[in-house]
Amino acid sequence: MEYALVTGGSRGIGRAVSISLAGMGYHVLINYNVNKSEAMHTLEAIESAGGSAELLPFDVSNAENVQQVVESWKEDHKESGYIKVLVNNAGIRKDNLLVWMEASEWASVIDTNLNSFYYITRLLVQDMIVNKFGRIINIVSLSGEDGMPGQTNYSAAKAGIIGATKALARELGRKKVTVNAVSPGFIKTDMTKDLEEKQYKALIPVGRFGEPEEVAAAVAFLASENASYITGEVISVNGGIST
Ligand code: NAP
Repeated sequence: MEYALVTGGSRGIGRAVSISLAGMGYHVLINYNVNKSEAMHTLEAIESAGGSAELLPFDVSNAENVQQVVESWKEDHKESGYIKVLVNNAGIRKDNLLVWMEASEWASVIDTNLNSFYYITRLLVQDMIVNKFGRIINIVSLSGEDGMPGQTNYSAAKAGIIGATKALARELGRKKVTVNAVSPGFIKTDMTKDLEEKQYKALIPVGRFGEPEEVAAAVAFLASENASYITGEVISVNGGIST
């Protein structure tokens, strides 16, 4: 079995990525936090297209929960294979101007978007090294590249992941494990449903919000053998809003 783990695979970009990796032949572990019915929709979409997947719920921001679920999955599957592709996608935003930002808004965004990278990646990287193949793809954001007002917490978390991507790529290059980031701009998902496309589209050269599948296409390329010589990169998928 060729396994791929997609965190936050129940909705939005994570769903599109899960479907795309399943189309490449991976058995996809669809992680989610609370939304089982949406995760089931991802699973059904994969199975109806002839692919294979399973649900693997855990809270990416909770180190103990991650450790318990991921280690237990590894123990149960040690004869059948290892997780070759990890897409760290789960994320939240809790926007506020820094002057008003509660400690809980800061901490939850850092835990979910940044600390989760450490909790999960650390558990999977050794198998990738031993097997001399791995793909780690981190979903970051335009906010982490440029900084966005009202998003100091989110921008800090995503910028942190960009730094971690570059550092880990240097650690793992010789082991044939690549580490890259995909950085979306405005993409049509639940995360942006409070934003008026009409209000923002004038800022975007392509003139519209992106689709989750347009982000998934970049992830699929980075996961493929064709991307073996690309590591430590940040690929923007943002309709040209920032270059
Ligand atoms: P979304 O539609 O809001 O979906 C978020 C996903 O993350 C859901 O699957 C959710 O699971 C999961 N999740 C949230 N907290 C979690 C936790 N503690 N543990 C496990 N899973 C958790 O978001 P999206 O727009 O697809 O965003 C996906 C990624 O792209 C995020 O990292 C986001 O920061 C990034 N991004 C998005 C945009 C955009 O415009 N949409 C732009 C730049 C970057 P449940 O369903 O169980 O809640």
